[in-house]
Amino acid sequence: MSEPSKNLLIRLWREHVVGFWRLLIVAFILMVIEGSTLGAISYLIQPLFDLVFIDGNSSAVTWVALAISGIFVLRAISGFGQRVLIVTIGLRVTTALQTRLLGHLLSLDARFFQDNAPGSLIERVRGDTQALQGVASATLMTIGRDTISVISLLTVMLISDWTWALLALAGVPILILPLSLLQKLIRKTTRAAREAAARLSTQLDEIFHGIISIKVNRLEDHEATRFDQEVDRFLDAQLRAERGKAANPAVIDVIAAIGFLAVLIYGGQQIIAGEKTVGEFMSFFTALALVFDPLRRLSAVSGHIQAALASLERLYSVLEARPTILPPASPKRLKSGDIRFASVSFSYGDTPVLRGFDLTAEEGRTTALVGPSGAGKSTVFSLLTRLIDPDLGEVSIAGTAIDAADLEELRNAIALVGQETALFDETIAQNIRLGRLDATDAQVQAAAEAAHVTDFADGLPLGLNTPVGPRGGSLSGGQRQRVAIARAMLRDAPILLLDEPTSALDARSEQLVNEALRRLSAGRTTLVIAHRLSTIRAADHIVVMDQGAVIEQGTHEALMARKGAYARLNQLQSAGLSAPL
Ligand code: ADP
Repeated sequence: MSEPSKNLLIRLWREHVVGFWRLLIVAFILMVIEGSTLGAISYLIQPLFDLVFIDGNSSAVTWVALAISGIFVLRAISGFGQRVLIVTIGLRVTTALQTRLLGHLLSLDARFFQDNAPGSLIERVRGDTQALQGVASATLMTIGRDTISVISLLTVMLISDWTWALLALAGVPILILPLSLLQKLIRKTTRAAREAAARLSTQLDEIFHGIISIKVNRLEDHEATRFDQEVDRFLDAQLRAERGKAANPAVIDVIAAIGFLAVLIYGGQQIIAGEKTVGEFMSFFTALALVFDPLRRLSAVSGHIQAALASLERLYSVLEARPTILPPASPKRLKSGDIRFASVSFSYGDTPVLRGFDLTAEEGRTTALVGPSGAGKSTVFSLLTRLIDPDLGEVSIAGTAIDAADLEELRNAIALVGQETALFDETIAQNIRLGRLDATDAQVQAAAEAAHVTDFADGLPLGLNTPVGPRGGSLSGGQRQRVAIARAMLRDAPILLLDEPTSALDARSEQLVNEALRRLSAGRTTLVIAHRLSTIRAADHIVVMDQGAVIEQGTHEALMARKGAYARLNQLQSAGLSAPL
């Protein structure tokens, strides 16, 4: 086993398994008992034949029968006990790992989640931990029980006739190299299969999230074909891994064939000449026949460990991912005041998104960001919430750089209402309460009223206690936005970020949402990404962006008087010749 693999196993042991050492010892004792019963049974075959069948010794009948059935009862009890213990430990370890993984994932940056699709992360948290558990339990049982079985059976064989015993295992050295090559193959193919499984989950996640547009655009067949191709790739990878695993016991059977052949050719004459008793002969061959079964399982252990390592590697690669956006060691307190972007530059990879961007959003006033799609408006929000950090320049609030402040304090100071609201499969009231978890019912009710949520919720049989369905699917777009606004009201943060909150709404919903937004933004430092003239005109200050920089700014009147880019866009939109700004 390679050094990194060993380290992974040691880490898993230290971090998650060692706490169960007492249970593990009990399980191993039970395994030793279960394993040694096979040797005992094959050993008792000799008196069974020699004393009972050949000599007809009737007093021996009872003790041999009692001994053999006693051994079976012992095997039943120890086998049951060790299985229950091992599975219990396995499940506890994997559920602890799952909780730890999720906790860690939640601490990672937004960028990590752009690089890793939700489906593949779900596959890691669920699929890889389960794969690990199944394999680890089976492996522990095999190592504990089957090693002892093999040792006890080999002992019986050696006691019966040591030359025969050595001959029987003549095939082992020949097949060590093929077996070790096979283990390498199993590891490689299993890793590929786990990756293919992650891609499948990613695709399923995309399909179910995008089900509406798939249906509307009649993409069912297209998606089914795409899935079919991915399933084929998964099947191919998984089958290769399974073939590798299946080859393991086959190699052991070849060893068995060589062993039987060698013993019979060499020992055949001794048997014919009657140099051995029938009991000795039967006992040896029983042990020989029984030894290959645990050997087959033991030979598969290394393959299982390889498969477990493939999952373990994937799990630890998640645990090793570190957030790059970190709070400072001694954070400064944030005061409320103007938000300022000073010469901020930011790129996604090699693509510059913001170039020397300057902005001042005055405290308590509304600043609108206007500009074509791709101008970098959403990026401004991501920088202010520190989902990303600038490459150059500084973002500050009331003169304090936001990266000098505590991350939690910064995010507490900001409420965001986006284009698409993240609602969870809970009630309307619970969704609103996400703005502030300790809010009273009266506060939730007040926020619901102010955001016009009660306008529609009061008409529902359960009122605010109506479940909104997965991702808020049983509410309309305008209703979802109003729930989001109520949430932001409850949050009562001094800074408000609005990302085109009315862009997807019809005129009536827009009016209601705008009315709710007006109440929400009163007295707060508000930044709004705006497309609609009504929203833009309501702003105190307008910043026109293009290609990551500010090209114009001022009030609506001042910008119109300039007759620049803003005035041109405005005229086109008023004349109905252009899409919203
Ligand atoms: P706007 O909100 O003005 O439409 P954005 O700030 O969303 O613009 O995006 C600005 C530019 O950044 C776009 O060209 C977009 O392609 C790019 N971009 C946005 N998000 C990412 C991302 N996660 N990875 C790579 N490029 C991105």
